[in-house]
Amino acid sequence: MTARRIVLIVLDGIGDRPHPALGGATPLSAARTPVLDRFAREGVTGIMDTIAPGIRPGSDTSHLALLGYPPEECYTGRGPLEAEGSGIRMLPGMIGFRANYATVGPDGAVTDRRAGRIQGTAPLSKAIEVGVDLSPFGVSFRFVSGAGHRAALALKGPGLGDGVSSNDPKHEGIPPIPFASTTDRPEDEKTAAVLNEFVRQARPILLEHPLNRERQSRGLHPANEVLLRGAGLMGNFEPFEERYGLRGAVVSAATLITGIGKVVGLETISVEGATGSLDSNIEGKVRAAGEALADRGFVLLNIKGADESGHDGKPEQKRDFIERIDGALEPLLALDETVIAICGDHSTPCVVKDHSADPVPVLIHGEGVRPDRVESYDEFACAEGGLHRIRGRDLLPILMDLIGKAHKYGA
Ligand code: ZN
Ligand code: ZN
Repeated sequence: MTARRIVLIVLDGIGDRPHPALGGATPLSAARTPVLDRFAREGVTGIMDTIAPGIRPGSDTSHLALLGYPPEECYTGRGPLEAEGSGIRMLPGMIGFRANYATVGPDGAVTDRRAGRIQGTAPLSKAIEVGVDLSPFGVSFRFVSGAGHRAALALKGPGLGDGVSSNDPKHEGIPPIPFASTTDRPEDEKTAAVLNEFVRQARPILLEHPLNRERQSRGLHPANEVLLRGAGLMGNFEPFEERYGLRGAVVSAATLITGIGKVVGLETISVEGATGSLDSNIEGKVRAAGEALADRGFVLLNIKGADESGHDGKPEQKRDFIERIDGALEPLLALDETVIAICGDHSTPCVVKDHSADPVPVLIHGEGVRPDRVESYDEFACAEGGLHRIRGRDLLPILMDLIGKAHKYGA
């Protein structure tokens, strides 16, 4: 029996560099990972440049590449993906933005870029959707809250562009910067004007909102300003099912990743207690991924926490979280008729505290795989593996071939 379905497990930011606090090991090589090592022993391993050698990937561009959508063809910024992940149906031609609720003081300067890490902003976003009127520009919009202080904006209308600057001053103590066109195209000039009008109208709505009045009475920072960035024009994505002939789903706590899943037509499966952080319900996510396979041929499972430890520069914390992931993955060893790929979307070395271009370890496990001699899953061992060094866009074609769905090239 050959395998007929694929699980792609992306351990976000898993790759790392040797760290002095771990005696020159990486968090992954230092971690005790019997399950990942068994996958490696029974499978084939390698290292992978998710975009290309020397390119530092974002999580968005790398996930697009892993799903077989080359980012240089279809990536136009984070905004449309975040908007889709926040539940806005993005249509080709719409412009998407990431948004933050922030606090502005009496002198107009930003005093808190995250509005006291406010939670539960949905009523504020609803009030903005109802109260702000962009119809004089011929523009309609959606503004939807995400997790915490985050939100997303989508503009729809004729003659809009994504060549606009952000109003985010990036540092506290500076007022928001008026939006400006970054080109001399009329559609970008119009979009800048639309955005300036949007924040102008949103301000009094936020200032008067009971939720903010109540926050101020409790001495909390009000969410009285919207900062927008990551402008992007929504493109055309061939649906995953048409491209691969597989019905697919995505399990992830990050709106950016579920957004990518949605734009390519993967169903989102939400899991109770999945936070995208170190306290996430990984066991629940693994179970949901397994259950999703009952009537689907493809599941993307993203586990985020290791990336966070990398950004924070905490190698021991990253190692310990990897051990938790390892335990949670055990039920997947029992899946039959399934090809499982485990990889990272990029390295997030604790010494760099950001994404680096270091290739990530990758393994493929399942029926039909030709095992190599590698016996553990880490950056050093996998560099000796039978897949050698591949690119992110190579992975899905290899997996498709293993489930007998690759097209023959030639006669
Ligand atoms: Zn990532
Ligand atoms: Zn990251």
